[in-house]
Amino acid sequence: MKTIGVMTSGGDAQGMNAAIYATVRYALQNGLEVYGIYEGYKGLIEGNVHKLDANSVENIIHAGGTILKTARCLEMKTDEGREKAVATLKKFGIEGLVVIGGDGSFTGAKILSTKYGIKVIGIPGTIDNDLAYTDFTLGFDTATNVVVNTINMLRDTMYCNARACVVEVMGRNCGDIAMYSALASGAEFVIVPEVPFNLDDICDKISHNMSVGKYDNIVVVAEGCGHADDFVKYIQNKIPGINIRGMVVGHIQRGGDATMQDRLLGIRMGARAVECLINGKTDRVIGIHDNKIFDQDILEALAKNNTFDWDTYNLVNDLVKY
Ligand code: ADP
Repeated sequence: MKTIGVMTSGGDAQGMNAAIYATVRYALQNGLEVYGIYEGYKGLIEGNVHKLDANSVENIIHAGGTILKTARCLEMKTDEGREKAVATLKKFGIEGLVVIGGDGSFTGAKILSTKYGIKVIGIPGTIDNDLAYTDFTLGFDTATNVVVNTINMLRDTMYCNARACVVEVMGRNCGDIAMYSALASGAEFVIVPEVPFNLDDICDKISHNMSVGKYDNIVVVAEGCGHADDFVKYIQNKIPGINIRGMVVGHIQRGGDATMQDRLLGIRMGARAVECLINGKTDRVIGIHDNKIFDQDILEALAKNNTFDWDTYNLVNDLVKY
């Protein structure tokens, strides 16, 4: 293997830049040439490919977003699109491809491997933490810290104004951002897609809290369960006179400097991805379990079912005071 490519695809996530940095530097140290593919599969199809050197990745470890940019690309789901992608790889002599993204990006990579013989390695980049095969994905830690800091600030103003708040956070169908941020910020309630919820029950508890002088009740809702404003309307109907606001944390969850955890995860995974390619491995995704980096077959990894973290979920409810 002489030449590899690296790309980011799907939703952006903090830690992707750290993974790009390590992929490029580790590959160069091992005598490989590296190309950056810009804007995910769209750039691969369109030939938006540029050679990277050690300077191309200086000063990026910390930065949110991705220097290679990202995109969603429907054409990659067609044979014509994939043939164009393969033609680009051949044109630049790219034999191995590191794809940093979520399950959709991994599926595209797998097809490039099985149908066209490209050696591919996936690095899990998604703030949602919704890939069951790995304990953590890039961006999850930083995004959750953004939510925690947001709730800390909200708490200040909610407390002194005797106001409740419903805070909607990202995560698609995964409740990890909601659950971890609720626990770490001392939120009173958390609603996640994995657990059926009873809003009437939550309203009863909020009413009880208010009766004993606790007004700043914070309800963290994962976006997969609905919108903050709808929850607010329901609660207002059930508890007339409640002072409550809704807040969508939104895209700032994807921004900001990556935490130490996400930087280290990106760096360790990037180096492992290159190591796999050097050793002739293909169709692998990189993961972390018990703080050890591992690689695993893509299909095996994607077939894993999510196991819900009941311990963390239950702690949110066990630790509130009222
Ligand atoms: P993520 O990688 O974060 O899960 P998406 O599901 O949007 O994000 O996938 C990112 C990109 O991966 C898509 O825009 C598309 O280009 C490619 N992709 C997704 N599914 C497939 C598929 N079945 N075949 C080929 N490419 C795919």
